Amino acid sequence: MSDFTELRLDGVGRRFAGKDALADLDLTIAAGEFIALLGPSGCGKSTALNCLAGLLPLTAGSIWQRSQDGERRIDTLPPEKRGFGMVFQSYALFPHMSVRRNVAFGLQMRRLSRAEVKRRTDEAIRLVQLEEHADKLPGQLSGGQQQRVAIARAVVLEPSLVLMDEPLSNLDAKLRLEMRTEIRRLHQSLGLTTVYVTHDQEEALSLADRLVVLRAGRVQQVGTPEELHSRPANWHVADFMGFRNILELEATQVSGTEVVVQGEGLRLVGTSTGGVATGDRVMAAVRPEDLVVATGDNATGATVDVVEYQGRELAVEARTSSGRALHVRTDQRLAPGDEVTLTVRPERLLVYPVAPGEHAPAPLAEAVAG
Ligand code: ATP
Repeated sequence: MSDFTELRLDGVGRRFAGKDALADLDLTIAAGEFIALLGPSGCGKSTALNCLAGLLPLTAGSIWQRSQDGERRIDTLPPEKRGFGMVFQSYALFPHMSVRRNVAFGLQMRRLSRAEVKRRTDEAIRLVQLEEHADKLPGQLSGGQQQRVAIARAVVLEPSLVLMDEPLSNLDAKLRLEMRTEIRRLHQSLGLTTVYVTHDQEEALSLADRLVVLRAGRVQQVGTPEELHSRPANWHVADFMGFRNILELEATQVSGTEVVVQGEGLRLVGTSTGGVATGDRVMAAVRPEDLVVATGDNATGATVDVVEYQGRELAVEARTSSGRALHVRTDQRLAPGDEVTLTVRPERLLVYPVAPGEHAPAPLAEAVAG
């Protein structure tokens, strides 16, 4: 469906009142790719998407579209000349028009024949499985169904690129999961190229071929779900990707990639991600599921503090003797007050360098109290 082979963002930036909302974004999107823009609130995700869409002029850089005929610059084109489809958090459907008319509207504006409009509208409605609801008004549909209409309306125009800004954030948990699968299915079956904005790392990991993690307007890492999950590029990305234990410690011994980290009553062996020297202050990051309740090497003692039931597993907060809170996931039936030994495999404790002035994120309870 794409009429391009590649879309290239070259040093794209956007400033508001002298402050960078987005800076130096270099990214090449291949036709057929599913890209997720991921990051915490205010990191510049929507700004990036709106720059791509043409809703926001760039203040730096350029955007290029490559096709068989060569490369052309598109950031100077108005949104309607770019041929992109858009799906937003708010569905923005016409409330007085039926589902069918909402979906057909864009095709009618293009002055296609009546038969062609009908054929493509029926096809789009079938793809999002709304055949039974085609004659209803948006107000008679659930949130998930309305979002399906919004998606059908975007894909019916066979856009070269579909831009989605948190399209599932208004839906309840079950529907979010269903629509997630739906979006991935549509992306594949229609051969779409999709750029999808979300702050939900799980959603991004499950949907995208590649993720772009932003923080404070700057790209932190671009990679496959696997790369982001196992090897975050810095401790901020690790923190965002579910390494809930970020410990500010000292590297007391470095040999190759093996690092001994110490502080807060802990002494553990971890794996350097590069740029760590003996005597450095570092961040040691470990996922709750990689802190294992078992006796063994590379361990610390802790007392169970809070236990949350989460189906087959428990989410446990334990405290070391120095008062450091650690997040643990375990299938062992622990209770508050239990004394446990927590071990970690050195390759699962990632040790990151720290920039001057940076400090570990405060645990939520302390942040609130403080
Ligand atoms: P969220 O997930 O909360 O929507 P986001 O990652 O999409 O966040 P953006 O909306 O891109 O973030 O905003 C990035 C930064 O730019 C923020 O600091 C925001 O306050 C600022 N910003 C965005 N739009 C404007 C504007 N029109 N005027 C001034 N500042 C803006």
